Amino acid sequence: MTDSEDLLQKVSDISTDSEFFSPVPKGYKKGKTRYVFVMGTVMSGLGKGIFSSCLAKLLQDKGLKVAPIKLEGYLNVDSGTLNPFRHGEVFVLDDGMECDMDLGTYERILDQDLSRANFATSGQIFSSILHKERHGDYLGRDVQMIPHVTGEVKLKLRQLAADSDADVVFVEIGGTVGDLENAYYIEATREMAYEEGPNSSCFVALTYILEPPTLGEQKSKAAQLGIKQLMQLGIQPQIIACRASNPVSEKARQKISVYSNVPFERVISLPDSASIYMIPAMLRDNGLDFEVLRLLKIEDRINLRHERKAWAQWCDFTDKIDAKDYQITIGITGKYTSVRDSYASIINALEHAGIALGCDVKIEWIETTTITDDNAAENLNDVDGIIVPGGFGTRGAEGKIACIKYAKENNLPFLGLCFGFQMAVIEFARNVCSLKKANSTEIKPECPEPVIDILPEQKKIEGLGGNMRLGGRDIELKRRTLAWKLFGKTDSVRMRFRHRYEVDPRYIECMEKAGLVFSGKAPNQPIMQILEIPSHRFFIATQAHPCLTSRPLRPQPIFVGLVAAAMQRHYPQDKLSDPVKATQKVCNRPG
Ligand code: GLN
Repeated sequence: MTDSEDLLQKVSDISTDSEFFSPVPKGYKKGKTRYVFVMGTVMSGLGKGIFSSCLAKLLQDKGLKVAPIKLEGYLNVDSGTLNPFRHGEVFVLDDGMECDMDLGTYERILDQDLSRANFATSGQIFSSILHKERHGDYLGRDVQMIPHVTGEVKLKLRQLAADSDADVVFVEIGGTVGDLENAYYIEATREMAYEEGPNSSCFVALTYILEPPTLGEQKSKAAQLGIKQLMQLGIQPQIIACRASNPVSEKARQKISVYSNVPFERVISLPDSASIYMIPAMLRDNGLDFEVLRLLKIEDRINLRHERKAWAQWCDFTDKIDAKDYQITIGITGKYTSVRDSYASIINALEHAGIALGCDVKIEWIETTTITDDNAAENLNDVDGIIVPGGFGTRGAEGKIACIKYAKENNLPFLGLCFGFQMAVIEFARNVCSLKKANSTEIKPECPEPVIDILPEQKKIEGLGGNMRLGGRDIELKRRTLAWKLFGKTDSVRMRFRHRYEVDPRYIECMEKAGLVFSGKAPNQPIMQILEIPSHRFFIATQAHPCLTSRPLRPQPIFVGLVAAAMQRHYPQDKLSDPVKATQKVCNRPG
């Protein structure tokens, strides 16, 4: 079947004289997959993604197959063009999709790799509609928000259900009920629940209970109004999760229950939690997992033995969160130093590594625009290790190079990520190989020694031309190097990439001769992906973003190595095991 026949099959229900339009993908089994729709009222930033992933985890633990999807209101086709300063980090999936940082939360909590099927934006939905319209796929109909745009949303949800064969698809709608840009998503979910039939779907409204300090009591009116707005859209929530800074009082929950037709036991209190990893337990204590199973009538699909094992494993992890005997500080040099969300995955990866090693990892943000070789020491005085993370553009680059030089010369544990890897190459070229004018053409387009450059010829092999190299790629590791040992003496690991510039292969030989080891390379081309300095306590950098694949139960070895090296430096009298041994002990996975 050709693509267009396929498309026509998909829109087979279309007719010029029927108002019904609900394309169903091939292979879709109605009734197999149930849907949980999660939406927010009162305000954004309630943690819908965290809630949704934790609830999905509880069902996954019971042996059910779950598939999350985030529906974004904005018109960008992906998140690649978004400024992390405004929107948090750009998360990259294995298939190269650049998406919202919430997808990172789903991958971490569910320990599951996601793909572009798990992320939709209005930009994608409308591009697809306009493409089909130009293609003549609507057979003369005027193309409308309802049923065509909502139909496209339903198609995306059902496609995910069919492809993943999930028992439950968790649909998180971005923004807040009442936003113009998300309204058609909400309408699509209403239609979907109707079409799929009774017990097919469960609507969860997250809301916020205000507690003005001047009153000293919790007020539920804003929450009530938000839920009313949802009901005006034809949606009756079955569960209401009340976010608040403190536990939500019975009185406030009763008011919401009376006002919204939701039984009191399904109006739950979700106060702020010190760690997001405690939220699955909070939902479980409220019995929310079984409420959802009952509402969706899939209690018979669960496997309690699977759950006992999965839950015990999770609790082993959460028990360690507060049991930390050590404390170290990692400095992170960064352009977006005022916004923690821009570095969410790095913060998470450090947290996972710290929990695994029983160490509290404090982060010190280092603004590099004023750092030079002369003042690097005073700026890095109280850190036990540094990370130079990814970035774009020129701001603060010289300061980062000065920090790397200081780390290199003072045996301070160092981890460079993507841009940080490139800065480490420049530092080495300048100060060890005496290529004083070495630079990246991203920073200095006309520089005479472009050790970091755009090399479209290299990327042609991957069919990318001058474009960004995105998504998961295998890295070949050189035997007996630090990277090889950290990753459990395996010859190949997979990491995620998002870069345009890379090491110019003409400089590799002279740098290697001078003592730099390129311990990770792309399998079929001279793209350098990991570097290290063997004589240093812990000096490693990678063109990849290993932070993106760190998971609570499977911390990323490079981060574990960094934290272990920092601990060794901070507590010399404790005779801690060396970073490689410590990493091998807690990381039982390749990659
Ligand atoms: N700006 C650099 C590049 O495009 C690094 C990118 C990054 O750090 N993600 O190659």
